Amino acid sequence: MKYILLAVLGIIVLLLLIAVIRTILIKAKYDDKKSAVSYTPEEEKSYAEALSAMIKIPTISSRGNTDLTEFEKLHEVMAEHFPLIFSKLEKTEIDGNLLFRWAGKDSKREGILLMGHQDVVPANETTWEHNPFSGEIIDGVVHGRGAMDCKCTVMAEFTAVEELLREGYEPPCDVYLSTSVNEEISGDGAPKLVEYLKANNVRLASVMDEGGAIMGDLVPGLSVLTAAIGIVEKGYVDVKIIARGAGGHSSTPPKNSQLARLAAFINYFEHKRPYKAKMAAPLIAMLEGVSPYLSFPLRLVTGNLWLFKPILTLVLPVLSPMTAAVMQTTFAFTMCGGSKAPNVLPDEAYVICNLRPCVHQRADESVEILRKYAKKFKLDIEIIEKREPSKVVDVNSEDFKYVVKCVRDCYPNIAVTPFYMTGGTDCRHYEAVSDNCLRFCPIRLNPQQLAAMHAANESINTDALAESVKFYKYYIKNHK
Ligand SMILES: [Zn+2]
Repeated sequence: MKYILLAVLGIIVLLLLIAVIRTILIKAKYDDKKSAVSYTPEEEKSYAEALSAMIKIPTISSRGNTDLTEFEKLHEVMAEHFPLIFSKLEKTEIDGNLLFRWAGKDSKREGILLMGHQDVVPANETTWEHNPFSGEIIDGVVHGRGAMDCKCTVMAEFTAVEELLREGYEPPCDVYLSTSVNEEISGDGAPKLVEYLKANNVRLASVMDEGGAIMGDLVPGLSVLTAAIGIVEKGYVDVKIIARGAGGHSSTPPKNSQLARLAAFINYFEHKRPYKAKMAAPLIAMLEGVSPYLSFPLRLVTGNLWLFKPILTLVLPVLSPMTAAVMQTTFAFTMCGGSKAPNVLPDEAYVICNLRPCVHQRADESVEILRKYAKKFKLDIEIIEKREPSKVVDVNSEDFKYVVKCVRDCYPNIAVTPFYMTGGTDCRHYEAVSDNCLRFCPIRLNPQQLAAMHAANESINTDALAESVKFYKYYIKNHK
């Protein structure tokens, strides 16, 4: 017995020793060099002014509203700032959604596409420090709704192309710019543009949309700025869970009424934690990506997933809502309803559950698990909306490596990593025309700016904006 224990202890010590040696050998991939791009103060000022002019047009999207007046105004502003794009490139407009094609030397080759949305979410003016649609520029910061999400992206992409057109640059393959009017309401803008591309047999080598950005604190313990390049996004499902039964007068209530069954089910499902936690491929890619930049204990764990994966699989789902979300399908009960009057028992009561299926337990399987548990409580389910998780971009593909190289050249001394996105973007629609749908805005965001996403006081720094323009230029210009 003693010898067995000693042998087990010996194996553990040996494994830990191997892990420690491997950790010591991991080197952070910093590039001790100057950025390949630069900009002048005049350029920084003009970029900020272009973004400010775009912010001033309140292009708020809302379900059921098809009025394009504000979007048409935005197009006028864009045409003013990007005259060569609007006059020289092949333009396709479908219900306010714009697609520009810049013909390259060889249009038979797969092209590249840069995209972002024109619409913004509403802003409650009373909670803002600056008027959300004034586009104020103060001390190197542009303020307003859309400054970050995501008029900065559209402005930077369009400016990059405009400058290259002015310089007489001719790209090796076709370059597309696309921008939709209803991303924030999961609208049909991007699908319409994709249908057009499909009808014209367009295949794209890569697509770049909003998503990850250059930010701090990407994972706990990561202190350096990190370019997080989104390689996947989770799915989306809305399910209505319905309790049916006899209604009637509330003065003579039955046992186990409709609402009581729903409440019991919600409670049970939340405690059950029914979805499988797993270190799926995109999460492994992300942890391996950040590992070289973490300090010792965390680097030891993330740099040796062969040893620590089982422990992480247990710890991450309960560490924080964020780490839980990248490990498994999540669910949230968001809306509910019963009868129309306080003294009437409902013959039908419901609760809406919003699921975010992960790549290892996709939408159908996740819904089936929900259905199985709902049945135990005599509840029916109806699927309102269902979307599978996106494909996962191959981080070993030439196109992914090219983006990483551009980031390293333009932003030396920061970390670069694949990123598992828990939210959704328009980008998923482009999977029909490209295998490399990347979700990445090359723009530096500070924690306050990240927190202002869809909230009050959205802003962007003018120097970050200028870097972003130059990144897109570099990305287009060095594409082989
Ligand atoms: Zn957005």
